[in-house]
Amino acid sequence: MSDQVLVINAGSSSLKYSVVDESTGATAATGLVERIGETEGSLVHRTPSVETRVPCVAATHAEAVGAALASFHQHGPDLESLGLAAVGHRVVHGGSRYSEPARVDDVLLAAVRDLVPLAPLHNPANLSGIEAALTLFPGLPQVAVFDTAFHQTLPPHAYTYAVPHEWRAQHGIRRYGFHGTSHAFVAGEAARLLGRDLRELNLIVLHLGNGCSATAISQGRSVDTSMGLTPLEGLVMGTRSGDVDPALHAHLARTLGLSLAQIDDTLNRRSGVKGIAGVNDFRELERRLADGDEHAQLAFDVYCYRIRKYVGAYYAVLGRVDAIVFTAGVGEHSAAVRAEALEGLDGWGITLDPTRNAASAHEARVISSEEASVAVLVVPTDEEWHIARETMRVVRRARGH
Ligand code: ADP
Repeated sequence: MSDQVLVINAGSSSLKYSVVDESTGATAATGLVERIGETEGSLVHRTPSVETRVPCVAATHAEAVGAALASFHQHGPDLESLGLAAVGHRVVHGGSRYSEPARVDDVLLAAVRDLVPLAPLHNPANLSGIEAALTLFPGLPQVAVFDTAFHQTLPPHAYTYAVPHEWRAQHGIRRYGFHGTSHAFVAGEAARLLGRDLRELNLIVLHLGNGCSATAISQGRSVDTSMGLTPLEGLVMGTRSGDVDPALHAHLARTLGLSLAQIDDTLNRRSGVKGIAGVNDFRELERRLADGDEHAQLAFDVYCYRIRKYVGAYYAVLGRVDAIVFTAGVGEHSAAVRAEALEGLDGWGITLDPTRNAASAHEARVISSEEASVAVLVVPTDEEWHIARETMRVVRRARGH
């Protein structure tokens, strides 16, 4: 049986795709269709030997998948001769129902549709991607891998919000957590790097990308995570505020007359690092920091301080911590963020080695000092590879091997 999985990540106006070798993580091709539904869009298609970038007007996700297939025909690799084994879909919200990836069928499609109120931007897009792939690859098994699934192990005291029973029981109001594919993948890779069994480790994983989340992992299971009902809660992010006083909405509605939609949009798209410094890309933030920009400095300080607070909280949650793991764009590349976020925690056995921290490398590595009792690691995330592996796990289970 082939190990090649087509991984599809359909966002609200974009579609990422890749063909991933489940056993090695190598990609035969990756691509991105952007600005779906608009009159001007683009498609980038990369193989190990070529990168092509063309205008691409796709009215729907189905057209975007069609355009991706046309790129495979034109620029390779030939999907027929690769012999795809399955299609794996990233689905953002699986609610309380999915703690595992699952084969796409009518029941799953209905469940993902029922969860649209909890993920109004993401789940409809994910559904469109699945429906397009069902039409274009009718002969292949298709699997949904949920961002929320890894966090279904949270105990009730961690996932329950202190709100009325009716909201919780009838409307699904609770912490779900997101970035689960990344946290699960990175935890496994961290155990491999340490040469230890994941089931004997307590980890704090810090996923710092455009979206940011922290997860406390005990014996391979997520026991608390910073994102909540939606991906807005927790750490400060590129454009998202993270934690604010929940009375902020009522205050702004009363004093500025803002609608709930305006407040929601502002907290999601115009807050976070962007809200404080005016830019959300961390490379630009670091350039401005170097130029002495005081807004950039404040954004950096608030961002790192919030991470440190969560590290402290999750240290208390876990009782003993074996490793703190940084991942995703900022976590993998910003030595300054890693140093500032963990500053002053030497008393807890958390000490970075400045040379190791500053070294730029693309492999998983240890950046703590020799004498530190808590290992600090940088582990590159690979959500596509994780989705490919989970997809094949479901396909093999269905085949009984
Ligand atoms: P996503 O959450 O969309 O997957 P990524 O994990 O790609 O995002 O992270 C994107 C963030 O990582 C951006 O803020 C980007 O500026 C930052 N980033 C990428 N490379 C670097 C780098 N070399 N130094 C600092 N920040 C970086």
